[in-house]
This record gives sequence, structure tokens and C-alpha cells, in this order.
Amino acid sequence: MIHPSTELRLVDPVIGYGVFATEFIPRGTVLYVQDELEIKVSPEDYQMMRPEYQLTLDKYSFVDPYGIHILSWDFAKYVNHRCDCNSMSTGWGFEIALHDIQAGDEITDEYGLFNLEYEMPVSCSCTNCRTVVKPDDIDYYARKWDRRVKRALLKFNHVHQPLLPHLSTDVLENVTAFLVGESPYISVANLKRSPSPGAAHHGIAI
Ligand SMILES: [Zn+2]
Repeated sequence: MIHPSTELRLVDPVIGYGVFATEFIPRGTVLYVQDELEIKVSPEDYQMMRPEYQLTLDKYSFVDPYGIHILSWDFAKYVNHRCDCNSMSTGWGFEIALHDIQAGDEITDEYGLFNLEYEMPVSCSCTNCRTVVKPDDIDYYARKWDRRVKRALLKFNHVHQPLLPHLSTDVLENVTAFLVGESPYISVANLKRSPSPGAAHHGIAI
């Protein structure tokens, strides 16, 4: 579920649609949570799908640490990538605003945390654009991304959080414990798809 103060707009005919803020959203705001309505496709079911369905999933879903494709039921699936994104997945799975987002700004994301199986050319034209998002970007950038996420988490308890009721109790308790120093930080590296079932989510602490 995407933050309620957002809307779907056509960016341009090449990029297609994108998600835009309809009001100011401060840094530290949870922008997306995996709620109970998200469509989840197991690796086995994905392999059994017809190619046209696989292509749709490849375009609109992300892959979690267990290899499950998560397809949003709302327009969260239209959030575009930018290398200088203003939203990012945390190691707990929800997305957080990395800096203040003004009304009218496009919400953008880091696809390097989505367990892409193929290299994806991107045309964000941002400063220091990587031009291609690679499956192993997470290995090279996790520490940098963690620094950005940690800065945003400092604001977690000080901003309006309309999506908090949709966070799982476990995640909320874990994040709260981290914020008071009673639990380790969970690195974004924890989002990387595990090579063996059950090995993910052991909580890589930094
Ligand atoms: Zn870029």
C-alpha cells in the first residue's frame, strides 16, 4: 500500500506513469508497506506461468528475499527508479522517505533492492546516473544506502505516519526497539534474495 498522499500521473509517453506526492511528505515517513492485499507469486508458480504473465510480473513487481514476486494491488507498482531516489526500501521491507518530498514531486525508488534477475537500463538522467541497474548493485551500494535509510529513520517517530497501522506488529516492534537502541539495525542487504530457502531475514546488523 502506497502512502495516501500520492496519486498516479502520466510522466511522459516514454516513461509512462509515475507516482506523485499530493502534499508535503517529510523525511522519515513510511511511503509503502506490504499489506495483506498484495499479490504474492511463489518462485514455483512464477515458473509455471505463461511468458506474458511473467513479463507483467517482471515489469510491475519486486522480488523479496524468499524469491516471491510481490505485485502491489494499488498504484505502488508504478513508482519509477531514480539513482537519486527519494524513497527506499528498508531492511524491514517497508519504504521510507529519504528526504523531504514536496507536493508535486515524483516518488522514486531504488530498483537495486528489488532482486532484478536481469540488468535494467534506466534513463533517470540524474547526476551520477548508473544508467543500468544490475542484479548485484546491492552488494556494492548497501552500505551507502544504509546510511541514507538510517538518517531517515531518525525522523520515524517525529512525523505523521498514516501507514503505521498497516505495518506488521513484528516489524513495528523491531523498528521501535532499534530506535531506542535495544535492537540492531537491519541492513538493506537483508533484502537480497537468499540462495537457499529459509536462509533470508537473519538480520544483518551493521
Ligand atoms: Zn539514474
